[in-house]
Amino acid sequence: MGAAERMEVGLKAEVGHWIAGQATAGRALRRQDVYNPATGAVARQVVLAEPEDVQAAVAAAKEALPGWAQTPPIRRARVMFKFLELLNQHRDTLAAMITAEHGKVFTDAQGEVTRGIEIVEFACGIPQLLKGDYTEQVSTGIDNWTMRQPLGVVAGITPFNFPCMVPCWMFPVAIACGNTFVLKPSERDPSPSLFMAELLKQAGLPDGVFNVVQGDKVAVDALLEHPDVKAVSFVGSTPIAHYIYERGAHFGKRVQALGGAKNHMVVMPDADLDQAVDALVGAAYGSAGERCMAISVAVLVGDVADKLVPRLAERAKALKIKNGMELDAEMGPIVTRQALDRICGYIEDGVASGATLVVDGRGYRVPGHEGGFWLGGTLFDHVTPEMRIYREEIFGPVLSCVRVKDFAEAVELVNAHEYGNGVACFTRDGHIAREFARRIEVGMVGINVPIPVPMAWHGFGGWKRSLFGDMHAYGEEGVRFYTKQKSVMQRWPESTPKGAEFVMPTAK
Ligand code: NAD
Repeated sequence: MGAAERMEVGLKAEVGHWIAGQATAGRALRRQDVYNPATGAVARQVVLAEPEDVQAAVAAAKEALPGWAQTPPIRRARVMFKFLELLNQHRDTLAAMITAEHGKVFTDAQGEVTRGIEIVEFACGIPQLLKGDYTEQVSTGIDNWTMRQPLGVVAGITPFNFPCMVPCWMFPVAIACGNTFVLKPSERDPSPSLFMAELLKQAGLPDGVFNVVQGDKVAVDALLEHPDVKAVSFVGSTPIAHYIYERGAHFGKRVQALGGAKNHMVVMPDADLDQAVDALVGAAYGSAGERCMAISVAVLVGDVADKLVPRLAERAKALKIKNGMELDAEMGPIVTRQALDRICGYIEDGVASGATLVVDGRGYRVPGHEGGFWLGGTLFDHVTPEMRIYREEIFGPVLSCVRVKDFAEAVELVNAHEYGNGVACFTRDGHIAREFARRIEVGMVGINVPIPVPMAWHGFGGWKRSLFGDMHAYGEEGVRFYTKQKSVMQRWPESTPKGAEFVMPTAK
């Protein structure tokens, strides 16, 4: 696909909902602009749902539920296989949609789609995943088994930064388990979810099994309050994750709410510094730092800082920042003007609190795209734990270097942070690596791997204020989240009666 073709492929002028297998604008009382972040121009509008639109989507999902829940898992898997085929066929279209609305570079968007596709591949194995346990003869003549059954109508609320992959953490697993689904994507990049709804229909998914409502807090609150929604999966910032968790629990729902992050990468003095520099530059500035697994803090142990900071500065200044549709782009724009202003506010704050601003990305210009939301790679040194730029999630291309004296101090620093999503340690020492993995209080750990996003069958989730709830997303935990366990104890008595028993049954 050429750059011009990639630009607007499949995108509509107005993005609406998808309810009962049909595109619809619903009540359409409110709309919001969707930008092309590379030009700063309004590219289209998204319709924002009213509570009635949410009710229509939940009603469609409820109507589709009995038929879908009764469909044998192997037949549900066949729909997933067909969907997988269509996703592979339309991978570049989806990637182009992501770049057009989010801004991330096209090759990175292709990677996002691929990581989403992997969850669909996992969901194709649902007959095996839903197999229960069975014990013959738990007592004489009695067998006991467990089965996992769908919850009913479930909802997913997703962030702007992975408009294809994060919805795919949820709906393929939920649907394969026999639930029906209502997705509320981010209003900043709403098109990919609508496109996936069309592909699901083409794959043969019955109408109403997968629905999309576009919207904001109004739609989210309507989903949280709806008595027919049995579970909510959320991914987004920590304050909203906490709100969803509390509010969902209040209404008796099962909730998994994944929140924000502040991911550290510890570089030990024995690390391969060439690899460490590459890893830091890619993980801090890739996707303009708008990843929940981005590295935003480099923890430089001993004399590493004096060697590494000049090299990081050189690389941050040399980043190829341009329209993500250009195939040699390494970093695209920030998602919105508002997000850009917020990140610039953090940079000012860092300077005011005494950190050394080694590379300042503010005021970055891309010729021909003057209206875009641009920010260059930004690097701070001598950052300390009390500073706001250390404590809070900036969610932009800003890397903070913290200097520590030894391994113990590095571990203590990471463990004291309120977030615990991802972390990495770069070292050549196996003992240090092993101790790091054991002692660190973070949900996803990379040893010489900067962004350790677990594979589809391992499950994704952070610790501390990066996840509220018990179950991680996708993998076997995802299957557990979207199903309830039932235990069946069975006896087929002989015809000779034995009389009533009044003591607690025990094995005989
Ligand atoms: P966000 O919290 O602003 O929005 C997430 C979702 O919540 C969106 O669908 C949005 O419409 C909705 N929402 C926003 N405000 C709301 C409110 N007041 N009440 C109810 N719903 C509301 O997050 P974002 O800016 O879209 O995404 C970036 C954030 O997501 C970052 O904090 C990032 O770390 C986090 N994130 C976390 C993970 C993870 O796996 N832990 C993955 C991706 C992104």
